[in-house]
Amino acid sequence: MPAERDRDLGRLLGAPSARKLKDQLGLTTAGDLLDYFPRRYAQRGELTPIAQLPLDEDVTLLARVVKAQSRRMATRKGSITEVLVTDGSSPGGYDGRLDTISLTFFNSFAASRQLVPGTVAMFSGRVGRYRGNLQLTNPEYVLLDDEDDAGLSAEELAERPIPVYPATARLPSWKIAKSTATLLGQIDLEALPDPLPDELRRRRRLPGIADAYRMIHTPASMDECTRARRRFQYEEALVLQTALARRRAQHALLPSRPSPARRGGLLDAFDAQLPFELTAGQREVGEELAAELAAAHPMNRLLQGEVGSGKTVVALRAMLQVVDDGGQAALLAPTEVLAAQHHESIRRTLGPLLRDGMLGAADGVEVVLLTGGQSSAERKRALLSAASGQAGIVVGTHALLSEQVQFADLGLVVVDEQHRFGVEQRDALRAKSLATPHLLVMTATPIPRTVAMTVFGDLETSVLRELPAGRAPIATHVVGLVENPAWERRIWARAREEIDAGRQVYVVCPTIGEAGEDEGDLDALDEATWGDSALAASAGEPPPAVSVAAAAAQLAQEPALSGARLGILHGRLDAGDKAAAMESFAAGRTDLLIATTVVEVGVDVPNATLMVVLDADRFGIAQLHQLRGRVGRGGFPGTCLLVTSLEPGHPSRERLEAVASSADGFVLAQKDLEHRREGDILGATQSGRRSTLRLLRVLRDADVIELARGDALAIVGDDPSLDRHAPLRDAIEAYLEPEKEVFLERG
Ligand code: ADP
Ligand code: MG
Repeated sequence: MPAERDRDLGRLLGAPSARKLKDQLGLTTAGDLLDYFPRRYAQRGELTPIAQLPLDEDVTLLARVVKAQSRRMATRKGSITEVLVTDGSSPGGYDGRLDTISLTFFNSFAASRQLVPGTVAMFSGRVGRYRGNLQLTNPEYVLLDDEDDAGLSAEELAERPIPVYPATARLPSWKIAKSTATLLGQIDLEALPDPLPDELRRRRRLPGIADAYRMIHTPASMDECTRARRRFQYEEALVLQTALARRRAQHALLPSRPSPARRGGLLDAFDAQLPFELTAGQREVGEELAAELAAAHPMNRLLQGEVGSGKTVVALRAMLQVVDDGGQAALLAPTEVLAAQHHESIRRTLGPLLRDGMLGAADGVEVVLLTGGQSSAERKRALLSAASGQAGIVVGTHALLSEQVQFADLGLVVVDEQHRFGVEQRDALRAKSLATPHLLVMTATPIPRTVAMTVFGDLETSVLRELPAGRAPIATHVVGLVENPAWERRIWARAREEIDAGRQVYVVCPTIGEAGEDEGDLDALDEATWGDSALAASAGEPPPAVSVAAAAAQLAQEPALSGARLGILHGRLDAGDKAAAMESFAAGRTDLLIATTVVEVGVDVPNATLMVVLDADRFGIAQLHQLRGRVGRGGFPGTCLLVTSLEPGHPSRERLEAVASSADGFVLAQKDLEHRREGDILGATQSGRRSTLRLLRVLRDADVIELARGDALAIVGDDPSLDRHAPLRDAIEAYLEPEKEVFLERG
């Protein structure tokens, strides 16, 4: 005997229905169909009695077909179906009196077939008049299940919400509803194991699984729909959070390399020579990390902090603690530009503490860079240094993950801007040492708590909320060229002023525009920040966006910029050119850098004060916020100009206004998320898959997720193997199909 859930729909519903469900929706078992939930419910609450129909208004009626006939139209091609319906709202029958109305359908084969006398259905449409009589033309209608509804009064029927299933042309919603109702009568719902522990279910006042299935598919009232949905949402949240809690618990048992802080080592020396005070947040997170690095089980932490909040210093201090203990740390950056920058800035920050630095402390730390674009000699040197243990800190890109890369004693992995690193990469790095290295993931994209809980649920999170003191404010303006074409001139004059004052300017363009076709910058992080690009792409077919190549050509001719030193930077340059472009800008030899979003993340040139984003409406909120964080870093006030050719009031301009109106990344992130499709939030755009959450919405259902998280922690704390929660454990197994496993482990 198969379990109730696994029973075959063919046997339960008959071959023809089962085949349709399989072909159209891919449903084959009882469980598949049970879990195929209505998308929404049509409400019959506001039924209008036919006897009181108002002319020219939209109405919904519940009525029974009295008479129906189809004929060919006399003057045109096609058929006409006339249906007389009654709702019995005016006692005395239907013959010509007030509780009947005639419905007219043109060319509706379905209506001619389905609306036979005796059929009860709900009709919606606008009341019109034809030859003096009221009628509805081509109303929408939903058939009601005769068996189920036959004995009910109009009032009772009116109470019942009508489930509306995601349907196809060949398998309409009402047929799915019919199959589901049949199924509910065929299987033993009471025999279904309930993933929710009884005690918890009662405490949360949620219906049991049998009732919940009945209520979600054949609700007697809207209240039942709501109760059933709440239960399944909670169940989904609990399953997911228990899976994450269990994973964290298991992970916490793995052996790691404990690296307790050592007095008098590099870390102390580093702190002593820091030119600034750590912020309170940096100190606090630093202590958290120091304690976790010293533990015998791996740290697993997500560090969130605004651009410029000083995450790198925090990470560097953690790396030094590991190095002090004789271990190694790896820092992964998402692009070569960033890896090179990190390498540079870490070396600069460490200064005399570098082993091969100019001042050459013999027992200092060796910091090496490992990227795909290096010469083979450089690469070989770096590989050797990592494998021998000579390198204390290895900075790199994906190249770090290749199999040739070996570490002598890897104790800590820091991932900067996590979006590009999936679980495979994390595992690849972890596989490089016997003990599980500690992991610190850093992101500048603020993530609301429940999103973090769901997407990075197996990581602990820390947040750096404040920016270091003395950070100059950034003024952001939307420059609408449609209202004011003359402003274009003004932008470049403004750039000139900055350059004349010895400052530098970024000009960011949405596309590269070199090799013919204008796709985005593959090396940039444009798809990495929560699918911003998906948002831009959904805007239809806009005119081509300005490219780096076009802007470079134009600016070379711009009188206001004559004599200014221009540079370009994008992901399609080869590694050497990229590094050279960045270096030249960082060293102040380039005045104005025309680039793609490759400068979005992490790039740090304190002397840059003006950020001009062309066709800014092509970028998402998170990206724009990141971009403007590139300026105002050196104590000079920064300015960000968001240039757009869209009409005022265009929806995409609202994003620009939002960015201009708030400097708080968390506020913006929340705004951004509210405008986004759920799948994008959960990173589905990265894998090209749909969101794997069914009923839960990470923002809307934040409270459910919070609640379930607490409950899940308690369950796992009490019963780590879930032996006493077998149905919940089974539900997790079912949930953790391979694709979902990837989803769970993102980050
Ligand atoms: P993030 O990586 O979070 O964007 P960084 O770590 O790159 O930020 O820091 C940005 C700049 O601020 C760097 O130049 C860094 O040296 C400086 N900085 C970091 N912490 C402090 C602090 N506590 N006080 C002053 N400046 C700081
Ligand atoms: Mg950074």
